[in-house]
Amino acid sequence: MRILDPHIHMTSRTTDDYEAMYASGVRVVVEPAFWLGQPRTGVGSFTDYFDSLLGWERFRAAQFGIRHHATIALNPKEANDPRCREVLAEIPRYLLKDGVVAVGEVGYDSMTPEEDEVFATQLQMAREAELPVLVHTPHRDKLAGTRRTLDVVVESGLPPERVLVDHLNETNVALVRDAGAWAGFSIYPDTKMDEDRMVAILQEYGTERMIVNSAADWGRSDPLKTAKTGHAMLAAGFSEDDVDQVLWRNPVAFYGQSGNLVLDPVPGFTEGAPPTPGVEFEGSSVLRGARA
Ligand SMILES: [Zn+2]
Repeated sequence: MRILDPHIHMTSRTTDDYEAMYASGVRVVVEPAFWLGQPRTGVGSFTDYFDSLLGWERFRAAQFGIRHHATIALNPKEANDPRCREVLAEIPRYLLKDGVVAVGEVGYDSMTPEEDEVFATQLQMAREAELPVLVHTPHRDKLAGTRRTLDVVVESGLPPERVLVDHLNETNVALVRDAGAWAGFSIYPDTKMDEDRMVAILQEYGTERMIVNSAADWGRSDPLKTAKTGHAMLAAGFSEDDVDQVLWRNPVAFYGQSGNLVLDPVPGFTEGAPPTPGVEFEGSSVLRGARA
């Protein structure tokens, strides 16, 4: 099973997770920029975080044989703080950097006018940078939030095939599919969406434009939920090829639209061998010796 986890916050995960993910088949990840729990109070907190996603975390993942990419944006929650909105001026230059495969997570949290404006602005940034967009749907008022999200996407003029609408469930999957966008599902240990419900959705709607992620972060979550969903699909009678489409070819097709996805194995990586401080991985030479 080869897996691209298209939404996982590795910043908040351990090296044990990286090892277990590799063993389960994960070879490539995409880490969306998001809210860090503790509210940010200025632009510098964002730019240090973006630099860390594109530098340090990419290096850390490579030590475990995993290709790491990021999506960059001002997240919906912090769109409501004027001190945070100043980062919008910095985002366009980040969208040009290596390893950036989309604008995201953008969308709605509480559906305020400030969130409206920041969402529309970042959709235009994606158009200008010719990048796909990862859109977060709110966990409350999910159906209304998804409707409004899709309206704003249509207004932006972005083609729907460049948009992945995430954190879907049974209530809003049809809306997103009818709009022609990619449908993303975050599989959690005990809330929201699990692998058996995911299998039922795939049985009803098929495997085209369907994307599964673990969305693992510092909360109770499981970075192996992609592989577990693949095994649940096989147990329910889906073929290996169906699993490959959902866990690999679909996210590759979506983020591949950026032209920045790196899929080949990390040179010099051997499974089970502990990472050696100072070893130079491709694209990470700037961080050589960082552990010394
Ligand atoms: Zn997330």
